[in-house]
This record gives sequence, C-alpha cells and structure tokens, in this order.
Amino acid sequence: MFEIIFLGTSASAPSIQRGLSAQVVKHDEYRFLIDCGEGTQRQILQSGIGFKRLNRILITHGHLDHILGLAGLLSTFARWEAIDQLEIFGGGWALERISDLLFGVVLRGAKSPMEIRLVEIHPGVIFEDGGFRVSAFPVYHRGPDCYGYLFEEKSRRPFLPERAEALGIPPGPWRRDLVSGQVVTLPDGRQVFPDQVLGLERPGTRLVHVGDTGRTDDLVQVCQDVDTLVIEATYLQEEAEMAEKFSHLTARQASELAVQAGVKNLILTHISRRYRDREVLAEARAIMPNTVVARDFDTFQIKRGEFIKVEAEFESILSSPHI
Ligand SMILES: [Zn+2]
Ligand SMILES: [Zn+2]
Repeated sequence: MFEIIFLGTSASAPSIQRGLSAQVVKHDEYRFLIDCGEGTQRQILQSGIGFKRLNRILITHGHLDHILGLAGLLSTFARWEAIDQLEIFGGGWALERISDLLFGVVLRGAKSPMEIRLVEIHPGVIFEDGGFRVSAFPVYHRGPDCYGYLFEEKSRRPFLPERAEALGIPPGPWRRDLVSGQVVTLPDGRQVFPDQVLGLERPGTRLVHVGDTGRTDDLVQVCQDVDTLVIEATYLQEEAEMAEKFSHLTARQASELAVQAGVKNLILTHISRRYRDREVLAEARAIMPNTVVARDFDTFQIKRGEFIKVEAEFESILSSPHI
C-alpha cells in the first residue's frame, strides 16, 4: 500500500485554496516529497505530517512552481538540524537550477549543516528496498529532463497458513524461511519446499505520478493497468490550444490517457485558478468515472485496485512546534 498526501495542487501560481505543487508519497517507513513549490514547508506543518524522514525529494522538472520551496525548506532544516542528509533526485536541468538556488542563494558559500546530495536521474530504477521500487521515466514538457515516477510494490506469493498447518509446520523460523523462498528441514527431519505453502504470485500496488506534461501518447505504456495515476490537468478542453502551447494537458486528455491505459483510479492535480473544481471533474468523469480532483491536504491510501480517501488530521502550527 502507498499513501499520498497532497500539499499543493495549484498550477503556476498559488490561489487562496491551493498551494504550489508538492505531495508526499509514503510506503512503510519511507517518505518521498515530490516537488517542492513555494510555501511547501508551511503546508507540511499544516498537514501534520511533520518533517521527520522527509529526506528524499523527487523533482519532476525545474520550473519555479515546482522547486522554489526548496530554499525555505533547506533554511528551516538547517536551523532545526532535523535531518543528516538530504537527497534531491531530478533531471540534469532541474538540478542545475536547484543547485543555483540552494548553493548560490541560500548558502552562498556557507557550509551546509547537513549533507545535500543532488542525484541526477535517468530513466530506470532510482530507489529500491526489499519490498518496493521507484522508477523514473521521461515526460515531455517545456525544457529538457522532465520526469515522472512509478512507485511499485514488488510482486509476491502469499503465505498460505492453512497449508502450513496441514503440513504440520511449527510457527517460527521455518515459516519465515519458506516465505523468503528457501527449502527448510523441519525438526522431525522432513523437507518442505516453498511451493507447498505459497500461493500464486500477486502483483503489487502501482502508483504513477506525472507532473507537468504536454503529451500522453508516450505515457500509455508506463501507466498500463496501474492502480492509481496522479497527473496534471491544467486546462479544460475549451482551451486545448493554450494547453498545447504551454505544454500542459486538459482534463479530457488526462482522463483519455487513464482509460486508454486501463488505469483503475485517476487523481487530477495542478489545477488552474481559472476553473472551478467541478468543471474539471465533470470533463474528466464524462470519460473516466473513477476520477477525483485533488485538494490541498487530501490524503489517499492506494491499494490494489482501490483508493481510499483518508480524513486529514489537521494540527495547527502552534500545537506542533516539534519536528
Ligand atoms: Zn507547473
Ligand atoms: Zn512546468
């Protein structure tokens, strides 16, 4: 299961209701901040999620509405010394701009109180642990080196306790070893093979996040049958020409991609101030019924085939001065 918390859902400039692009994806103890528009640190405070372990940041591209918040975030991290190392993943062009912002403006020659690693990414796996992986894939937008991110749990074979009981396998390390694919010898000398207690392989949950993009035809493959797609919808179809000119999508284009790729649930973000939510939603739902338009602080649990909206736990800044 993944959880996504939207911290900023506005396109280009903030509105009263929406901050600039930022969202956190959680999986077990891991947390990834995707993009960091201006004002993100205050959104983090208001969301109540805190700054702990928020040390991996994935950048979709180098436009200012996606990166300016890094300056404030670094400045705060530096004062609180909450984090030993900050890793910022992004394409080469985005990282150049981020480097100018952090080292040229925020630090200006001062030593950073934490290690800052700018990690230039290329298509492929960029992070992996035992149970899941994060991959980057190229996205077409204004400027070079724009990326989207695929979060996927590795497929696994479920342990079948009733089979283990029937075989008389005692609880303990034998079961754990069988789950990890090893042949075990029981205390009574019998050998048991993993196939005897494991079910058919089940694919893990998949979540795709696409930031700004002007095309969808090159995204069908990576979005194929994913459980949830998060993607921008900056324009409505009536302004399709503008969308094309600025390399953005309309709500209709985003939902057509979702249908074409067999996506199970669609979450639209990067919403322009010029439209009402319900207009965006109506255009998308006419094509893809399982669509929601994200609002700031919306939280969703992404599971296989379903997503569940979680009620936000708001904490005021005053009640949460700790990190
Ligand atoms: Zn943008
Ligand atoms: Zn952009």
